[in-house]
Amino acid sequence: MSEVQEGDLMLIFSEKEGLMASRKASPVPHDFLIPGSERNLPEPTQLFRLGTGCTEEREISLFCGSLEGKEVPLPEGWLWHSFNDVFRDIPREEQFPFSRARQILGWERTNRYCGSCGSKTELEREESCRRCPECGAFYYPSFAPAVIVLITRGEELLLAHNVNFPEGLYSHIAGFVETGESLEDAVRREVMEEVSLNVKNIRYFDSQQWPMPRSLMLGFTAECPEGEPVPDGVEILDAQWFGADNLPVLPPQGSIARRMIDDFLGEL
Ligand SMILES: [Zn+2]
Repeated sequence: MSEVQEGDLMLIFSEKEGLMASRKASPVPHDFLIPGSERNLPEPTQLFRLGTGCTEEREISLFCGSLEGKEVPLPEGWLWHSFNDVFRDIPREEQFPFSRARQILGWERTNRYCGSCGSKTELEREESCRRCPECGAFYYPSFAPAVIVLITRGEELLLAHNVNFPEGLYSHIAGFVETGESLEDAVRREVMEEVSLNVKNIRYFDSQQWPMPRSLMLGFTAECPEGEPVPDGVEILDAQWFGADNLPVLPPQGSIARRMIDDFLGEL
């Protein structure tokens, strides 16, 4: 763990509330990269090195820090922003430090006591883990895998309206992988639970970080040659087969859900 030097950059969080600090009201991703030499902000409680970037002169380090627990308001001119809203607008190739920062700070905050013996854990900076000095247990950052599946029938795709979606928006069946399941098991179970269909030819598509607060979304495609969807009425309110000429409101650009749809339509 190196110290912050002149020119290094920081992402500043209030992790418990899922907030990020910037100087602007409508910031773009780069506005959250705060100079390490910024003297206006309170010193973060914890500072973690995320990785390096390069400028013309030298290699710079990127850090993330949390102001949690300090109960110091942001200085004049600074604002908090919802991390979830910020993250949705970050281009995929720039998401990594934001996603890692959120997950590292969340892990640090929620693993301060040993789950086995209840003692206070200690941070092992070189390893990025917390260790219990009493029983020796290690606590590494972890995340929950989730699957999202594009279901097709010839030139049609199945899209569903989730109870939490905005009016008119349809997307794929998705859900967390349960303990003991393979990814393919999770795909089959989620599709059966949510729309009562059997799928086959499950194939991996791509993945996307989903730090809301700590997940990794794994995309799959699957075929469903027969049957009509029956929404579970709890999570899924409606599900229909759509063709390229009668599409509903789709998930936003930049999401893996939208990339899967665009990829499928592009192949037709
Ligand atoms: Zn312990």
